[in-house]
Amino acid sequence: MKYDFLIVGAGLYGAVFAEQATKRGKKALVIDKRPTIAGNLYTEKIEGINVHKYGAHIFHTNNEKVWHYITKFATFNRYTNSPIANYKGEIYSLPFNMYTFYKLWNTITPEEAKKKIESQKTILKEPKNLEEQSIKLVGKDIYEKLIKGYTEKQWGRSCSELPAFIIKRLPVRFTYDNNYFDSKYQGIPIGGYTKMVEKMLEGVEVRLNTDYLKNKKDYKNIAKTTIYTGPIDAYFDQELGILEYRTVRFENEILDIDNFQGNAVVNYTDKETPYTRIIEHKWFEFGKDESGKDLPKTVISKEYSFEWKNGDEPYYPVNDKKNNELYERYKKLAEKEKNTFFGGRLGEYKYYDMDSVIEKALTDAEKIIR
Ligand code: FAD
Repeated sequence: MKYDFLIVGAGLYGAVFAEQATKRGKKALVIDKRPTIAGNLYTEKIEGINVHKYGAHIFHTNNEKVWHYITKFATFNRYTNSPIANYKGEIYSLPFNMYTFYKLWNTITPEEAKKKIESQKTILKEPKNLEEQSIKLVGKDIYEKLIKGYTEKQWGRSCSELPAFIIKRLPVRFTYDNNYFDSKYQGIPIGGYTKMVEKMLEGVEVRLNTDYLKNKKDYKNIAKTTIYTGPIDAYFDQELGILEYRTVRFENEILDIDNFQGNAVVNYTDKETPYTRIIEHKWFEFGKDESGKDLPKTVISKEYSFEWKNGDEPYYPVNDKKNNELYERYKKLAEKEKNTFFGGRLGEYKYYDMDSVIEKALTDAEKIIR
């Protein structure tokens, strides 16, 4: 056999695994059906701006081991995610914090804000749907202006028809702190995610535009072990059924102005605006290029959430009972595959943040690479 490992997928999971195998003296081949590396982290330079092609990615973690590992491949900037909400032209601070409450009710102190929220909450033992669950957690005003429209666009269904379990918790902060993530480390890799993954794959053979499933038999014979990070149901020709996802369509525009919305992330929380968010990519890097010069143009992406159908880009797994049970059946089949391991968000049918996928790949590599 020519290789110790064939790694299907040049995304973050595949890149970590390949890096760990190479570091341990193993020969790895990475293939990806896309023309690019980095999977969904892929950033493309447009007008000097790193555009997040498959959705905005903000790295954040509390995991020391993961931070120590990933900073070997990139230096991260000081970007802090502070999205804002636009509800019919009114601007609110996110996540829900003292600035949000001031704008909603003119409350100044945490005590006043708490009283206001308490007075709007309904006391329900078992909320029957997402609407009841949200009002139970944060009261009517926040639900109506900041949750309802956005969630309905995301799921394509009314909140009164959506199950309560989708929202378990809604973080409410009684401080003037609009840092979205509660993480010790946060930032964007300087130079973009693609450059970071390129560095992880240094010294590894990579073949792009190469679909494993079109040539599965031949690929089985070139490596002792296969690490597969594509969709698990596709690996088995969807023989037990189709695992469902939610998907997003991105509409990108290059604008001949230097500042469109003054923030990287603006959520549109009313129902009438057809998109859920607008991302203005340059603000992930403070509007500057790598030499520190101001960028004259800007690139924005409008995000539309819609129902996924077989063949569309799979983004968010629908981890409801039906799909989870189907995944468990595929997992049993996967365990029987000789010398083949399934990993990553598609291989495990699981939403993973980047730090969790790195941690999982490091742990799996430790177990698998001898
Ligand atoms: P992927 O990046 O999907 O890589 C899998 C690769 O396998 C792909 O390149 C694919 O082309 C390839 N492949 C599939 N099938 C085949 C085949 N048959 N043959 C060859 N190659 C194949 N995480 C954060 O921490 N912060 C964020 O802000 C954040 N934002 C996100 C926004 C969106 C819209 C989404 C969907 C996710 C976000 N994430 C975020 C999560 C992040 O994208 C994942 O953690 C990460 O992409 C997982 O890496 P992966 O290698 O498992 O999967």
